[in-house]
Amino acid sequence: MNILILGSGGREHSLAWAVKQNPKCDRLIVAPGNAGIAQIAECASLDIENGGAVASFAEENAIDFVIIGPEAPLAAGVADRLREAGLLVFGPSEGAARLEASKSFTKEICAAANAPTAGYGHFTDAELAKAYIRENGAPIVVKADGLAAGKGVIVAMDEQTALDAIDDMFGGAFGGAGAEVVIEEFMDGEEASLFVLVDGEEVLSVGTAQDHKRVGEGDTGLNTGGMGAYSPAPVLSAEIEAKAMDEIVKPTMAEMAKRGVPFQGVLYAGLMIKDGQPRLVEYNVRFGDPECQALMLRLGAQAFDLIHAAAEGRLAETQVNWADDHAITVVMAANGYPGSYEKGSVIGGLDDLANDSMNVVFHAGTKADGEKVLASGGRVLNVTARGASLQEARDRAYEMVEAIDWPGGFYRKDIGWRAL
Ligand code: ATP
Repeated sequence: MNILILGSGGREHSLAWAVKQNPKCDRLIVAPGNAGIAQIAECASLDIENGGAVASFAEENAIDFVIIGPEAPLAAGVADRLREAGLLVFGPSEGAARLEASKSFTKEICAAANAPTAGYGHFTDAELAKAYIRENGAPIVVKADGLAAGKGVIVAMDEQTALDAIDDMFGGAFGGAGAEVVIEEFMDGEEASLFVLVDGEEVLSVGTAQDHKRVGEGDTGLNTGGMGAYSPAPVLSAEIEAKAMDEIVKPTMAEMAKRGVPFQGVLYAGLMIKDGQPRLVEYNVRFGDPECQALMLRLGAQAFDLIHAAAEGRLAETQVNWADDHAITVVMAANGYPGSYEKGSVIGGLDDLANDSMNVVFHAGTKADGEKVLASGGRVLNVTARGASLQEARDRAYEMVEAIDWPGGFYRKDIGWRAL
């Protein structure tokens, strides 16, 4: 089978790594890809948010199956254009991608499906939004309705911060994404993520994970795209996972199907867990980055069969072969990230590292320059290891991190602290 993966991050490197090992894969192209991906697949430059361009490229290259990594092409309807062109696609339609692209849409689906989540109000008027905040008091959470690259959420511990957030959002701080806001009840508890493949009807869990959003050790400092992750997440016990599936995932997926917008792809449920009860924080309509890197190392080549089964509507007859293992990924980022950082520093020592089913360095923001690998983004490498215990996986991941010669980068030394 000829397979095209869209995206260029560590997530897509890990997807390519898993797909490449599957004997069903004949040819693998990743667009646009990165320096690490180029070592295992063909890379092609392509405007991945332009459905017409992707469809033509797929046709020219006799592609049988397209796997969409990031949310932007999904929200732009690329999956729909590809399906119209007769291609097999992994990833939701534009309508179903609203579960990530519109927070008010998700809240409304949850209400209709009776799925546990924070109480909320949805506003298009600043004065009404402020009245709601004054009535409910702090702590309270203010969210821009649309996609804002993880920056459109203000968890306000006092009322004034929430009121100021309303002024910012309606003042255009998040462009169109902030023209509507959702204001939510503050939920207390421990956060974890559940990843579920959905084929329109059936659902199949492909693992749990916890990430580390803050740049600094002990979860301090600015928010980032994610500084590390591990799987499984011990806080999501089998019992709580089953509850999340039965009370949240299945009813909301049934509600989507009932409305004529069935979901197909991977659903990433961000959950808040307190006293054994999970509640939905958010849905994303793609794998998390860097959670995907830990999940792919655990799943290996079967990840392709699972993704393929979801795209073909065969999840009812599909199951995951779980090993009793743990995986962790440590993000190495350019000095200065998530603020401004320099590009072009040289990364050494990568060739001497183990590269097998237990240890892989996935590339995120890298660029090849002859034999050299250069940093070309904020989050640059995802050093990923698997082991019989989280401690074992973690020790091995940090051993690799320390062997990488990159004065231009930094990493958190405490990934996994919550679980250990
Ligand atoms: P990202 O893409 O970075 O995950 P997002 O913009 O999609 O973020 P959310 O996931 O909805 O936004 O919120 C970001 C973070 O804010 C959550 O991971 C959680 O820590 C916190 N948060 C969101 N909603 C609530 C809530 N109701 N109560 C407490 N904390 C919340």
